[in-house]
Formats: sequence, C-alpha cells, structure tokens
Amino acid sequence: MTIEEKYRFADFTLPNYKNILKLAINTGYRFTLFDTFFEYSNQSIILRHDLEFSVPIALEMAKIEHQLGIKSTYFVQLHGDFYNALEMKTYNTIKEIESLGHEIALHFDSHFWGITDTQQLEKFLLIDKDTFAKYFGKVPRLFSFHNNNAFTLNCENDSYAGMHNVYATKYKNEYGYCADSTGFWRYEILQNRISEAKDNVLQVLIHDAMWQDVALPPRRRVYKTIDEHASLMKKSYDETLVKFGAKNIDWEGEV
Ligand SMILES: [Zn+2]
Repeated sequence: MTIEEKYRFADFTLPNYKNILKLAINTGYRFTLFDTFFEYSNQSIILRHDLEFSVPIALEMAKIEHQLGIKSTYFVQLHGDFYNALEMKTYNTIKEIESLGHEIALHFDSHFWGITDTQQLEKFLLIDKDTFAKYFGKVPRLFSFHNNNAFTLNCENDSYAGMHNVYATKYKNEYGYCADSTGFWRYEILQNRISEAKDNVLQVLIHDAMWQDVALPPRRRVYKTIDEHASLMKKSYDETLVKFGAKNIDWEGEV
C-alpha cells in the first residue's frame, strides 16, 4: 500500500468534500446547527469548522454547503498563527461566510492566555467573547478549544462564560464524532461512518486547508496554503507602492 493510499490523500479534495455531504443527505442525515439544549432529532449531523489555515478555502466550503442547503458553524480564531480575523480581507470573508446562512463562533486559544484553571478560563473567554462581539456585531453562542491540552480536555461543562462548549460531556459520551484533524482519518473514515448510519447525532469536525483542489499529503496542503498567502501578500505590497506612487526597489532597480 502506498502512502497515498494509506492516508487516503484523494479523500481530501473540495470536489470530494461535496460528494461526502451529498452522501450524508442521501443516507438520510439532516444537518443542524449546535443546539444549546441538546435537542437534536435522530440522524442529525452537526457540521463544525475550526478555522485554522485558510479562510478563503473555508469560504469555498461555505458556498458548497449553501448550494446543498446545509448550514454549519465556523469557529474563528482571534489569535491565529495563520490569519488575522480582524484584518479587512479576512474579516470580510468571514462576514461573507456568515451571510450564506452559516453561524460564526469563537475558536478559543487557551495557550495564548496561558490558562491553567477554570477561573482563568472564564475570565479570558469573556475577553475574547467581548472582542468577537464588538467586531463581528454579535455575541458568539458557542466556542471550541484550539489545540486541546490536558487542562482543556477536562473542561466538560455544557457552557463557560455564557457560551456553549462543543466539548461538553454529552458530545463526548453520547454523540458520534468524526474529525479530519492533521489531514487524515485518525479513527474512522467519514464516508464509512456516514454510510453505516449508526449515529443518531454525529459531530463532524473539518479543517479548511486540509481540503484542496488536488490530492496532496497533509503537509503539502498546508504548505500550498502558506505559499499562496505569501504570494498574495507580495502582490499586495507591490500594489500598495503603486497606489501611493512610491518607489519599489529590487536588486535590478525600480520595478
Ligand atoms: Zn484549532
């Protein structure tokens, strides 16, 4: 078996993302947003996106879902390494995702704040909740932890700081869960899990840049996104100098 077959690179393309969603619909699943009272009907899928690397790819996914009549939730980082949610282009893209009928919520980075106890958790969640509300014009109903650690894995209450916790006990113990974390199916292949239709409620976690136009190893998918972002930033720098009539000097002189 090749590496490509072992880790199923071909699964992780945007066209196949659409196929998987269609499979779920044809299997009889209905897509639902998170319900803070845990009131889910049978054969529900809660589709969750933790925005990690590429907000533009997340928008492509949001459009695919919109075409299929699906609503999902996009959890946004305020302290991301790979994007700045408060920068104009990214901010507008997030607003565009929301305008397609999807929900936006908080993807919370406990590492940024160095959180080690519940009191600190409540305090810093409130700060990010407030920032999110100020910029995005709505109070987030929900949050998910970014890069769980030993402490956050034990935070299993239904809510903290007035936000629904998508890692609450019920999600962990009573509902199904399938994730594409680090770009492969670590536990179960999502298509198989859907086809088996054994879950009354299934939470599916998706990470944007792990899905590309072409089949690639996970590391290459992330590198591709980083390279594309770098190219866009270079283009933006050149355009800004033109706009302001400033000299743009390289080794060969003015460009
Ligand atoms: Zn994350």
